[in-house]
Amino acid sequence: MDVDSQVRLAAFAFLEQQTRLHGGTLSWDVLSRGFHYEGRPVPLVGPPGIFTPAVIRLPLTITTAPPVRGKQAPYDDELAGDVLRYRYRGTDPRHRDNVGLRETMRRRIPLIYLHGVVKGYYVAAWPVFVVGDDARALTFTVAVGQRPADLSGPQSLADMVLEGEGERRYATRATIVRLHQQSFRMRVLQAYRERCAICRLRHQELLEAAHILPDGHPRGRPIVPNGLALCSLHHAAFDRNVLGVGPDLKVEVRVDILDEADGPMLVHGLQGFHGAVLTVPRVQELRPNRDFLAERYELFKKAS
Ligand SMILES: [Zn+2]
Repeated sequence: MDVDSQVRLAAFAFLEQQTRLHGGTLSWDVLSRGFHYEGRPVPLVGPPGIFTPAVIRLPLTITTAPPVRGKQAPYDDELAGDVLRYRYRGTDPRHRDNVGLRETMRRRIPLIYLHGVVKGYYVAAWPVFVVGDDARALTFTVAVGQRPADLSGPQSLADMVLEGEGERRYATRATIVRLHQQSFRMRVLQAYRERCAICRLRHQELLEAAHILPDGHPRGRPIVPNGLALCSLHHAAFDRNVLGVGPDLKVEVRVDILDEADGPMLVHGLQGFHGAVLTVPRVQELRPNRDFLAERYELFKKAS
């Protein structure tokens, strides 16, 4: 297998492992450190959005910058529907990086898409393929391919291409949903300074973003005031109405569970937080919306 293919497969394996370790998002540090290929460093990101590490000749990653607070999120147009769009570098279609991406399209070479969700953090999608090139709009169209089940065996990069238009759109759509979920998660986690609002646990990989009004509710949108940063235990307990949070931010544990006797985890993990007050963001506009909490609290009361 040629060096280019070997480096790409090694990069996919690296991402697989790192994503498992870090729970869905990767930091700029992890990505810029990258891995080694035959003793040579292979970073996955660099200053340009279309990035080619020194060991190979064609681009390996395409990166979108995280949105800056207060500015329009740049991916509003890039992340709608079931196709990804990626802007040219600059306005010259013949710029080396744009030419490189076009060559990956022609030769069906898989790439890695890194989507900035909040400052310093990215969600990775791979393999992706450039499938369209619109010189007038200065954008490429990018589709998600097929992730191999096992990276240890012999691989052919050609197997990763999804031939069917329907399959391709489905895979891309699923990736876009995941990008939105991770973006919500990271915005909520940052607002809560990476702590569980109930127990203050401080381990990003064990923290999740709970919806106050659930996904699917007309007002259950993925915005920070409809979110709570919770550890996995408290997220599950909140979702299943084992505990509720009143509009006064007070935690209530369901009556039948308060009366149960079931060892230290129940005592310290759940019963002990009855009556505790949520730790919420300092910035007013990021705090949980009281109306959302009140509506959700009604559901909890009904479940009790
Ligand atoms: Zn917790």
